[in-house]
Amino acid sequence: MKIIPKQQHDPVTAIKVHDGSFRWALQASEEVTGKQGLIVTLNQAGLSHFTENFPENFAGVSGKYTLGEYARLNVGLLNFFGRGGRSMIIRIGRVSQQLGSEQLNAALGSAVTTALRLLPEGMRVKRGLELVKFGMERFFVYKGVQPLVMHIEERGEKLAFKLETCGCCCGFEADSPICYMWTGYFQEGLHGLFGKDREVDVKEVECRAMGAPACVWEMSKLPVRE
Ligand SMILES: [Zn+2]
Repeated sequence: MKIIPKQQHDPVTAIKVHDGSFRWALQASEEVTGKQGLIVTLNQAGLSHFTENFPENFAGVSGKYTLGEYARLNVGLLNFFGRGGRSMIIRIGRVSQQLGSEQLNAALGSAVTTALRLLPEGMRVKRGLELVKFGMERFFVYKGVQPLVMHIEERGEKLAFKLETCGCCCGFEADSPICYMWTGYFQEGLHGLFGKDREVDVKEVECRAMGAPACVWEMSKLPVRE
C-alpha cells in the first residue's frame, strides 16, 4: 500500500470535525497502540499537539479540529502498524464506535439501539445507516453550516453508504482504499443491531484517495457471519 500527500489542496481537509468523534478515535488509538505507540504516531503525523491533550467529550463542533487532522491520524496509524495496519485500524474504528455509543446511550438511555433491534432484521441496517446520516447532518454542524455530504443507496442485497467528505483519507492519495477507521466504525455499529457473534459484511469499495468522487462502503443487509 502506497500513501502520499495530495499534490493539490483538498478542500475536505479544512472541514471542522466533531470534537467528541476525534476524542473517541484518539482514545481508541491509545487503547490499541498503547500510550507510547500513540505518542510516536502523533509525532510522526505532525499531531504532537494532541499528546495528552484530547478534544473534549461531546463538545459539538468547536471548530478547533479539522478532518485533515483526523485523516493524518488515520494515515499515521497505517504507517505505525505497517503491513498489519488494516486489521488494527478496523479494531480502532470499532473501539471508537463503542466509546461513541456509550456516550450516546448515557445521554439517551440506549433507546436508539433498542428501537432498532425491535425492527425486522432486514430493515435494521438501512435504518441504522439513516440514523448515522441523520446524526452527522444534525450534530456535525459548525457555525450553522452542515458541510458533510453523504448518500445511502440500495444495491440489491447490499446497501451503499457514500461519503463525499470523508475524514479518513482527505489530503492523501493511495493505491487502495484506506478508510479502515470507518469500516470498523460501521462493522461495530451494525454488529450492535444484531447481537452476539453476528457480523454484517462491510467493505470499502471506492475511496477518494484513489480518485473516486466519494468513499463508498457496501454492507450486507443481513449478518453474513453467525
Ligand atoms: Zn475516505
